[in-house]
Amino acid sequence: MVKQKPDWPDWPDWMEYFARQLIMPEWGEGAQEKLRHARVVLVGAGGLGNAIMPYLVGLGIGHITIIDDDTIELSNLARQHQFKMADIGKPKAQILARRARQSAPFGKILAKNCRLDAHNALKLCRGANLIICGTDNHESRIILNRLSYKYNIPLLNGGVSNFDGQIALYGPGLACYECSFGGEAQNNMANCATIGVFTPMVGVVGAMMAVEAGLICAQKPSNYPHHLGMFDCTNGHFMRIKRIKNPQCSVCGLQNET
Ligand SMILES: [Zn+2]
Repeated sequence: MVKQKPDWPDWPDWMEYFARQLIMPEWGEGAQEKLRHARVVLVGAGGLGNAIMPYLVGLGIGHITIIDDDTIELSNLARQHQFKMADIGKPKAQILARRARQSAPFGKILAKNCRLDAHNALKLCRGANLIICGTDNHESRIILNRLSYKYNIPLLNGGVSNFDGQIALYGPGLACYECSFGGEAQNNMANCATIGVFTPMVGVVGAMMAVEAGLICAQKPSNYPHHLGMFDCTNGHFMRIKRIKNPQCSVCGLQNET
């Protein structure tokens, strides 16, 4: 018989749904309750977003907002498995949210069919416990990085290109994204549309990001607060590269520390 939890009226079967996760003594109802109250903003409903989103709802994240202004194209379908042929031409954020609701018909999942920019970023991300950046747009990463430090919201970044993938956690007290990759001046970074991506890499990195999201939202230690995790699938090597804070950084440098 499924145990009912009175203060989860909208999740009547939660014990059964999350049974395999709840049975772990290291996890349990305490961690699950934290995820239910967590607010996550997912920027990017492309390859990484498609890989991350099913795990976010499977983890039990209670509030998820998906931001993307793109529409689904044929060339997306090989990697973006939440989308079907019949979805071509439709908004990515909206379809990704719809598929998630079908998988887990509880919690709150919002779709914002818009492009994140410097003007709307705060409004879209306000109140979030975690921002997940799954876009390969350098401008969006810069905006989110600055917002993360200014408003004290952890930022989980991931990226794939070619046969490589990477992951890192940014946020106040940590070396920021611009310390490693620079600001606007280095706006010539390659992305998967220009140099391609080995299809399964979005699944590898997306799953790694979902793991981190679960740990962070459950208030457990992240694996990448001080390192850039890098995976090269051509040789199976996974490296952790130490991230160094730039004392002169305009985002996280000494002048911004209180
Ligand atoms: Zn910095």
